[in-house]
Amino acid sequence: VSETKTALVTGANKGIGFAIAQGLGAAGFRVAVGARDDARRDAAVQHLQDAGVDAFGVALDVTFEESAAAAARSIETEAGRLDVLVNNAGISGPTDNGAQDPTTLDLEVVRTVVETNVLGVVRVTNAMLPLLQRAESPRIVNMSSDMGSLTLRTGPILAAYAPSKTMLNAITVQYARRFVETKIIVNAACPGYVATDFTGHNAPRTPEQGAAIAVRLATLPDDGPRGSFFNDDGTVPW
Ligand code: NDP
Repeated sequence: VSETKTALVTGANKGIGFAIAQGLGAAGFRVAVGARDDARRDAAVQHLQDAGVDAFGVALDVTFEESAAAAARSIETEAGRLDVLVNNAGISGPTDNGAQDPTTLDLEVVRTVVETNVLGVVRVTNAMLPLLQRAESPRIVNMSSDMGSLTLRTGPILAAYAPSKTMLNAITVQYARRFVETKIIVNAACPGYVATDFTGHNAPRTPEQGAAIAVRLATLPDDGPRGSFFNDDGTVPW
C-alpha cells in the first residue's frame, strides 16, 4: 500500500478549491484535481505541478451520476484508494436584482443550486466511499458557508444559496452519525468571505486564507472532532 496519501478536491480549477489543492499538496498529499472543464482542469494541474504539487486531473461534474462514477474509477486506477475528499464545488446561482428574493423566487434557481451544492456532495461522497473506506484515516470536508447558519443569519437574502448550505450542514451531520463507528471523519467548513470569481473578487480574504480551514479539517487526527462546523476561529453555530 502506497505511503503517499491522495486527496480529491472538487471544483479545484480555481478559487478556494485551487488553494485547497495547493495547501494539501504542500502538506504532502497527491492531489486529484476534480474539475468539469478539460482546458481549465489541465491548466490547473499544470499550474500545481509547476508549484511542486504532485497533481493529476480528474474529470468531474458533480451534477452527473456517471461523471462521479467515472471519477471514482479513474482515482481507483491512479491511486487505489482515497484518503481525503474535499467537497468544494459550489455555485451561488444568480444574485442580481433580487434574483433570490424568497417572495419571487424562480424555483428552477433553487433546483440548480441544490443540485450542485447539496446533491452534488451526496453524489460524489457516495461514489468515493468505497475508495475512502480503503484508507487508514479517511477525512471528508464539506465547504459550506456561515450564510447557511440559522443562528447567525449573515449576508444578503439569498433564498436559494443560503438554504443550500443549511441543507449541506444537515447532510454533514447525517453522514457523521452514519460514520460514528467508522474511521471516516466528516466536518463542514466556512472559508470566510473570500476574493474569488464567486464574490466578484470583492472580499477581504485570500483563497489561501479561505483554504486553511479545509486543509486543517482534512488532516485531523483520528480523535478529531466529527460532524461539526468550523471556520478559522473555531466552531460556527448551526
Ligand atoms: P468559485 O466560483 O471561484 O469556484 C467554484 C468552483 O466550483 C469552480 O472550480 C467551478 O468550476 C466549480 N464547480 C461549480 N459547479 C460545478 C460542477 N457542477 N461540477 C464541478 N465543479 C463545479 O468559488 P469559490 O472558490 O469562492 O467557492 C468555493 C466553495 O466555497 C463553494 O462551495 C462556495 O459556496 C464556498 N464559499 C465561498 C465563499 C467566498 O467568499 N468565496 C464564502 C463561503 C463559502 P468551473 O470553473 O467549471 O465553473
